[in-house]
Amino acid sequence: MADSIAESEKRGLGPRQFDLDRCVHCGLCLNACPTYRELGVEMDSPRGRVYQMVQVAGGAPITPSYIEHIDLCLACRGCETACPSGVPYGRMVEDARAEIEAQRHRGWLADRVRRFIFGHLLQSRSWMSAAGAMLYVYQVSGLKALVRAMASMKMLGGLGDLAQLTPSAEVPFFFRNVGKTFPAEGPRRYRVAFLAGCIANVAFARLNEATIRVLQKNGCDVVLPDGQGCCGALHLHSGLAGEARKLARRNVDAILDGGFDAIITNAAGCGSTLKEYGELLDDGRGRRFAALMRDVTEFLAAIDLNRNMRPVDAVVTYQDSCHLAHGQKVRTAPRKLLAAVPGLTFREMPGADICCGSAGIYNVVQTEMSMQVLASKMKSVNATSAGIIATANPGCMLQLRAGVRLHGADQRVMHVVEVLDEAYRG
Ligand code: SF4
Ligand code: SF4
Repeated sequence: MADSIAESEKRGLGPRQFDLDRCVHCGLCLNACPTYRELGVEMDSPRGRVYQMVQVAGGAPITPSYIEHIDLCLACRGCETACPSGVPYGRMVEDARAEIEAQRHRGWLADRVRRFIFGHLLQSRSWMSAAGAMLYVYQVSGLKALVRAMASMKMLGGLGDLAQLTPSAEVPFFFRNVGKTFPAEGPRRYRVAFLAGCIANVAFARLNEATIRVLQKNGCDVVLPDGQGCCGALHLHSGLAGEARKLARRNVDAILDGGFDAIITNAAGCGSTLKEYGELLDDGRGRRFAALMRDVTEFLAAIDLNRNMRPVDAVVTYQDSCHLAHGQKVRTAPRKLLAAVPGLTFREMPGADICCGSAGIYNVVQTEMSMQVLASKMKSVNATSAGIIATANPGCMLQLRAGVRLHGADQRVMHVVEVLDEAYRG
């Protein structure tokens, strides 16, 4: 971690002047910003945050108020899509956080917990498996159900919302598949590498398996290269650029020389960072890796899709994952795939590309605002009367499942590839 600070210092901390200069203060981004929509406060809008970054770049001190407004940003990048001046807000908020991080003084315990999560838990298969095992005991012992029941009765105060967000441990964990190759069904058309993520190995093992099945159905040999690991997105969003670079290097070295047609992820949040490895590592290998990266929906929508599916009789709405829609500019691919499923009725929700409040670990560290954003999102979902909420990012799935428990109408929350998998399997 100390290493990461040193790395950041080498790059120069804080948003770059040429990025800051792009903002013309027009305000066209305001309505795309979830925190501005909820609070109506200029300093919690993209324009207001850029204004504060400009002040700090000009020599103003980093105050608790500045940290609070930057921390409250979801880094959803909705403002980037709305901005006519091409302000690269996502990069700017990452730089602002790296600068804050270098100066922030946490308590001893908070610092140790953070070091453990970013330096060990997310990076190590054994630590993640141990955490998954504890989570499994928590859910099979009935404790999880009890805690959630108490949360529903408002007996846990603010902790109740956190209880709704706890993922489930899905046994067997997906780690056992890393290092294996899953052959194409029928003639092989592509050879792809699949990145299984970090937390997803424990909490989305079945989604990863569904992703492999769908790729196999579409003529892909699916390889899970050994040596792959966490993509570094959570580190980067938390101001730990040096640590993220170390993880990026590990993935590039494990995968790039395998001769793959594409490198696939089913997690939009990870994909967004994986596609930025060129910039993060600032070398040719990083750029070649980034050029091969595809979100699974993007990959499937671009090939001749296997249409041998059975009907899925359901009304489905789609929640854009911010890092897919705004970060990667992938919007039509998931909708195109859903439209290809026979029997399925697609119903667009209002404001589908406004964040659901998940945003990496935002819902854990800014739970109150996250829940407020989620409540607004669920109003849009419920207006569609859809029985399935499809999305393209595991983090959004967790958040939307909490939304269904708190404000929903018993909807199923599925990844787009799980809808396809269901159609293929009948
Ligand atoms: S990234 Fe999202 S929350 Fe942050 S300023 Fe932009 S729109 Fe608002
Ligand atoms: S970030 Fe873009 S849209 Fe927002 S005020 Fe600045 S120039 Fe206008």
